[in-house]
Amino acid sequence: MAESIGKPRYSALTLLREGLAGQKGWTPAWQDRDPKAGYEAVVVGGGGHGLATAYYLARNHGIRDIAVLEKGWIGGGNTGRNTTVVRSNYFFPESAALYDHSGRLYEGLSRELNYNIMLSQRGMIEVFHSEPEMELMARMTNAMRVNGIDVDILDRREVLEMVPILNHSEDCRWPILGGMIQHRAGIARHDAVAWGYARAADSLGVHIIQDCEVTGFRIAGGRVRGLETTKGVIASDRVGLATAGHSSVLAARAGFELPLQSYTLQAMVSEPIKPCLDRVVASLSMGVYVSQSDKGELVIGGGLDRYPSYAQRGFLSMTRLVIGSLLELFPSFATLKLMRQWGGIVDVAPDSSPIIGPTPVEGLFLDCGWGTGGFKAIPVGGTLLAHLLATGAHHPLSRPFDLSRFETGQLVDEAASAGIAH
Ligand SMILES: Cc1cc2nc3c(=O)[nH]c(=O)nc-3n(C[C@H](O)[C@H](O)[C@H](O)COP(=O)(O)OP(=O)(O)OC[C@H]3O[C@@H](n4cnc5c(N)ncnc54)[C@H](O)[C@@H]3O)c2cc1C
Repeated sequence: MAESIGKPRYSALTLLREGLAGQKGWTPAWQDRDPKAGYEAVVVGGGGHGLATAYYLARNHGIRDIAVLEKGWIGGGNTGRNTTVVRSNYFFPESAALYDHSGRLYEGLSRELNYNIMLSQRGMIEVFHSEPEMELMARMTNAMRVNGIDVDILDRREVLEMVPILNHSEDCRWPILGGMIQHRAGIARHDAVAWGYARAADSLGVHIIQDCEVTGFRIAGGRVRGLETTKGVIASDRVGLATAGHSSVLAARAGFELPLQSYTLQAMVSEPIKPCLDRVVASLSMGVYVSQSDKGELVIGGGLDRYPSYAQRGFLSMTRLVIGSLLELFPSFATLKLMRQWGGIVDVAPDSSPIIGPTPVEGLFLDCGWGTGGFKAIPVGGTLLAHLLATGAHHPLSRPFDLSRFETGQLVDEAASAGIAH
């Protein structure tokens, strides 16, 4: 386990001891380093995926000479901006296997990293408002069950019993007819995921280098040899890209194109209130989903702003749409104040599935295209990119998500499952 290496263990006893001793014994969770001239492997992007990659590369493959390069601060991209939903109710077997593996890793992560990621598997309910939607969902649910995912169909009464504050009216524009629940789905604390991996990676010798933008690549003989950065040139012939909304920008700097579009996805939180919602609730037709954080805030999300953008803000028209839908579902939330609203840049592939694998440049590997749903995939994304960097070859879980699928046509079209239920 990571905590045994170079870091004091976090525990109730340590907390008590430090409380009695004036809190003087804590050490930084990770060190902010200056880059060396070169590394055995470099990961670009200090979000959850990049940090997890570095951690698994060190832990699973014994490679310790690793740098994570982050242009801002770690967790400052989508990892710190998302609505923290963790689920694996996807349609195709390839995706179910991928996201379920991630869910299993999440289940043991607090213990493994010795860092409380506050995973709360409270169940996620998607509610349906029409007969055709119910039929479609029955098909999806059956497919998911065949894939081994713990999903069930709920009738109207069951949904309203589980979430009594939902709109009970049968005469409203979007009456609730039923739903689908994944019992093991839930939420986790996003910053803690980034910080937990950073601490564990640092304790295994990984250099975390913030404020260091990758501006270009050194490529010779078709192979990556190093990176140009705002902190100088760094040599390495094994590089992983985990740069989410900026993956196509980085790919262009390395001389190839990716079939990705970058969009703004926004989220918002209400003022904190007493506990009233103990599930994640989503409506695909209405384009909204919501959960209540441990602080009491309602964490609210919706669909993409419908045009490509690199602005981490989001447009008011989408904010209004999302809030309008939320109030149809939960009329009692109408008196709440909205406290904050923000956006993140997500990279969306034509089949709404990630791209994991080699690139046209030898030694340069991708973990991107997670679009609106890559928080839940941080443990598996890190595992798979680490595997690629260490072995140069696909792990069986990542093979279906190779870039070549856009040439062969073997797409994994998860548009319906990716939906807005991030
Ligand atoms: C509003 C919102 C809600 C979401 N909700 C959910 C959800 O509920 N559940 C879910 O599973 N997913 C959700 N997602 C998606 C999820 O957040 C992302 O898929 C995931 O965080 C991607 O992680 P990452 O580490 O790849 O990217 P990021 O966390 O974005 O990290 C990439 C990092 O790369 C850095 N970078 C970029 N360019 C360079 C460069 N040139 N040099 C160095 N560094 C660079 C960036 O600064 C950034 O820190 C949501 C996203 C948003 C925006």
